[in-house]
Amino acid sequence: MSPETKPDFLISPEGLRIDGRRTDELRPIELKVGVLKQADGSASIRQGKTYIIAAVYGPRELHPRHLTLNDRAYLRVEYRMATFSVPDRKRPAPSRREKEISMVVANALKPALFLEEFPKAVVDVFVQVIQADGGTRCAAINAASLALADAGIPMRCLIPAVAVGKADGKLLVDLGDEEDKYGQGDVPMAILPTTDEITLLQQDGMFKKEELLEAMQMGINSCKYLHELQKEALRRAYVKKASENGDEDDDDEDDDFDDDMETDLGEADLMEDE
Ligand code: UDP
Repeated sequence: MSPETKPDFLISPEGLRIDGRRTDELRPIELKVGVLKQADGSASIRQGKTYIIAAVYGPRELHPRHLTLNDRAYLRVEYRMATFSVPDRKRPAPSRREKEISMVVANALKPALFLEEFPKAVVDVFVQVIQADGGTRCAAINAASLALADAGIPMRCLIPAVAVGKADGKLLVDLGDEEDKYGQGDVPMAILPTTDEITLLQQDGMFKKEELLEAMQMGINSCKYLHELQKEALRRAYVKKASENGDEDDDDEDDDFDDDMETDLGEADLMEDE
């Protein structure tokens, strides 16, 4: 077990956070698409020290059959933390928290998906937290959304997510683990960036009404920025795939997967466009 001490302050007298960020600054983010060979779609995210891999299989036949939905596909999300992902060994059995986050992630993603196109099937989303340092449910949504697009699941748009919190009376975006543990509150949220509709909103801690409204606006702004990073990661992956396949001139500016329309971002369709 690694010893952890409560920091003396979460916001310095200069107004900076313990890792030197401004209050409205996200951690460094690295998104990669197509990181696993066996999955139909996959993506990874590094958000500060949080590191997560998401894999998508499907649409495919659903087992057990009693879960079948006659009018749409079942979106089955399994969020798990590796035993070595936190300083105290995480017990391998699924915890209540993991079950809750699996449900929360599925509910955040569903509004973006055309699940009615695949009645009776299942779309499986596996989220594995390799290293947890706060904000794992939001990072999971960011990665899972990219993995779904990589699998060619028809989507209205990608779903970005971020947690906004409060420490030393100040609102902060994208909480790290210490800010999450020792701060005054946490509001994870996810949006449909094309309409600003909110698909995830949770609250932990006390916020005044004005604070909550401001936190939500900060969250929406950060989600819009994350959405740009997500689109860029998808674009990079397909340019790379196209160049590996020997196609020419794939990164010109017309090659723009504008996801604010009903789009199937599957490989087959993208190849047809070329
Ligand atoms: N955490 C931990 N052990 C656990 C579960 C969580 O150390 O068994 C840490 C981990 O860093 C996680 C943070 O606590 O990111 C905050 O957890 P929370 O439930 O608020 O979810 P998250 O912020 O990750 O979405």
